Amino acid sequence: MTRPTCKFTVLPGDGIGPEVMESALRVLARAAETDGFSLDYSTHDVGGIAIDNHGTALPEATVEACAQADAILFGSVGGPKWERLPPAEQPERAALLPLRKRFELFANVRPGLLYPELVDASPLKRERIPHGIDIVCIRELTGGIYFGQPKERRRLPDGREEAIDTMVYRTDEIERIAEVAAVTARTRGKRVCSVDKANVLTTSVLWRETVTRFFAEKHPDIALSHMYVDNAAMQLARDPNQFDVLFTENMFGDILSDEMGVICGSLGMLASASLGAADNRHGHPVGLYEPAGGTAPDIAGKGVANPCAQILSAALMLRHSFGLGATAARIESAVRETVKSGVRTGDIAFGTEPVSTAALTDAILSRL
Ligand code: NAD
Repeated sequence: MTRPTCKFTVLPGDGIGPEVMESALRVLARAAETDGFSLDYSTHDVGGIAIDNHGTALPEATVEACAQADAILFGSVGGPKWERLPPAEQPERAALLPLRKRFELFANVRPGLLYPELVDASPLKRERIPHGIDIVCIRELTGGIYFGQPKERRRLPDGREEAIDTMVYRTDEIERIAEVAAVTARTRGKRVCSVDKANVLTTSVLWRETVTRFFAEKHPDIALSHMYVDNAAMQLARDPNQFDVLFTENMFGDILSDEMGVICGSLGMLASASLGAADNRHGHPVGLYEPAGGTAPDIAGKGVANPCAQILSAALMLRHSFGLGATAARIESAVRETVKSGVRTGDIAFGTEPVSTAALTDAILSRL
């Protein structure tokens, strides 16, 4: 049998990006060795380092390398050095947004996972989450009010100014994100909660009608419920585990996924996948996989960053873009067992003696 080859582009970026990326690549190499597949990747500049080396946060060669690959493993970009640049040239905006657009990354999948051993990392009371948190938030990423036209500021004849953003959704955009939610729920508790504001917004009325029809026709065995976004924000803080898979449009998802990140504790543990509209050579979606956190300039270069989010992002890449779900699950359980055993970096230490990025990575490797 021929060994599958995972061809992906590595974009470590700035700050702790290259440090935690090294850990993820070590884990991928070990997983490939033990599970019998090959890795084929090249590393390219993105973000601040790309501005320094090539004069732009997203050089053409980086985009071309991504286009040739089946997935993108992304670190994080930005930092104090580039903060004075005009907003449109800032590393995050100038690198991530064009990548999302170029590869039509329409579905942001964020597992909200808090291990029972780390409940103290959450601002929620222990009694609300005695067994940790295990939910998934799925956000539509390329439509809605962030992209709708017209989007403009204008001066009225009487001298006042007004500004307009347009929220727009089409049925096909709603159906394709609903499909991601259904497929995700199928691997978990088979429950989906669609979040909208159908009591006020016309786009939400279309969203709710489309989602209801889509699930009835395509996924009648998945339990679908609906919730208004203001209630969802409250319920997430009150009892997050009432959800299995939450899914919603772009702006609501921006806010809810950040709320979910906060209740799950350290940024160093949170992975994410942004799935594209096109399939890769393996018949799976092209995707960009990255930790939820940023470049952590306060700890960059010290070798103490938590590599788990980057490693878990690599596991998501294996699952979603290469169909290697069993290997992904093995990596996830190695991370979980390691953290459970008390081998932890400073951000999740809670009474244990903090270890370095490399030592935590070694401990994960020893469990693979
Ligand atoms: P941040 O996520 O970088 O850091 C916030 C806090 O979380 C810091 O105390 C940091 O030390 C800690 N933290 C984050 N990841 C960690 C890890 N893996 N291990 C241990 N601790 C970790 O957010 P910030 O300080 O607001 O932003 C710093 C820079 O990162 C900014 O330039 C920002 O624009 C950029 N940023 C980039 C992305 C991205 O590339 N997607 C996302 C967010 C922020």
